[in-house]
Amino acid sequence: MIYEINQERLLKTLQELIETPSVVGYYPCIHQLLEELVEPYGLTVDYDRRHTAYVKISGQNPEKTVCLGAHFDTIGMVVRSIEENGWLSVRNLGGLNFHSLEGENVLVHTRFNGDYTGMVICKSHSVHVFDDARELERDFPNMKILIDEDVHDKTSVEALGIRPGDLISVDPKFVLTDTGYIKSRHIDDKASAAVLIECIRILVENGLQPKNNIWFAFPIYEEIGLGGAYVPDEVEEYLALDIGLIGHEQSGDEKKVSISGADRIAPYDWDLTSRLIELAEENDIDYVTDIYYRYGSDATAALNGGNNIVPATIGMGTMNSHGYERTHIDGIVETLKLSMAYIMDSK
Ligand SMILES: [Zn+2]
Repeated sequence: MIYEINQERLLKTLQELIETPSVVGYYPCIHQLLEELVEPYGLTVDYDRRHTAYVKISGQNPEKTVCLGAHFDTIGMVVRSIEENGWLSVRNLGGLNFHSLEGENVLVHTRFNGDYTGMVICKSHSVHVFDDARELERDFPNMKILIDEDVHDKTSVEALGIRPGDLISVDPKFVLTDTGYIKSRHIDDKASAAVLIECIRILVENGLQPKNNIWFAFPIYEEIGLGGAYVPDEVEEYLALDIGLIGHEQSGDEKKVSISGADRIAPYDWDLTSRLIELAEENDIDYVTDIYYRYGSDATAALNGGNNIVPATIGMGTMNSHGYERTHIDGIVETLKLSMAYIMDSK
C-alpha cells in the first residue's frame, strides 16, 4: 500500500460526524463541519441547489470525472402538529422503526429559535398507569415528542417557536468499545462519510493524483430516496458508499466490506461491480458480495433520476440497521481500502 491508514483520526472524524445533527434535509451544521474538516487540506466545498456537498480533486485526465458518494442525512422526524396537551405529533423522515426509538432523546430544530431537547414517548407511556402500555402499537398515531420545557399546552409550545415543519434529530449515542466496535444510531451513513473524508486526506497528504477527476459527494436527501437523484453531467461513474446488510440471506459482516450486486431497485453495473471485486482480490481486501432486499442507495437513486451514470455500491457490514446500529473498525477500514483502490485504479 502506498499510504498509511490513521485509524485514530478516522474514528475521531466518525464521532464528530455522528454527533453533528443532520436529519434528512437539515444541512447547516454538517456542512459547516465538512468545511472545517477539509479546509486544512487546502480544499473547499461546492454545493448544488439541492444542498449536496462536493469536494473535488482533479485527476491527471481532466476529461473524465467519477464520483464517490456518502449521504450525510440520517433518518428522523418532522413536526406534524402540536397537540392540545403540548406533545408533538410527528411524521417520519426515512425508514424509522418506533420500537427502537421509544424513550430516545431528540433535538427539535426550530427555524428561528434554536434547538430544544425532548424525548420520544408512547401515548401509553407508563406500565404503572396504562393497561395497554405493552401492547399499544408503536406507530405514528401513538408515538409523540415530549419537550423538556415547562409546557403543558399548545400555546406555550408555540411560544417556544416550535411549529409544524420543524425537523427532529435523534440522539446518536456514539460508543466505541475496546474491541473496536462502534455503536450509534447513525453508522448509516456517517461511517461512509468518514471513509470519504479520510480518502481526501490520504490523497492530499501523500500527493497522490488519481487518473480521473474524483468528486466526493455528500447528499442530504438519501433516506427518502432523493439523495443521488441529481448528478452533475460531468460524472460518469457513481460509487455509492452505504451500509452493508447483515441477517437472513445476507452475506454482510461487520468486519468486511460488502460489494452489492443489486438492490430493491436494480442490479448495479456489471463491469464496475466486477472490477470492484477484482480490486478487492488484488488488494487482499476482506469482502463479500451480496444483494440488498429492502434497500436503495444513492447510486440507484441516481439511475432512478434519469442520470447517465454507471452505478455501484459498497459499504461496511452493519448490524441492527435503522435502529441502534453497530459495525466494527475493520469493516470501515476494508471499505476505505476498497475506495482508495477504486480511486487510484479508475480507468
Ligand atoms: Zn444509508
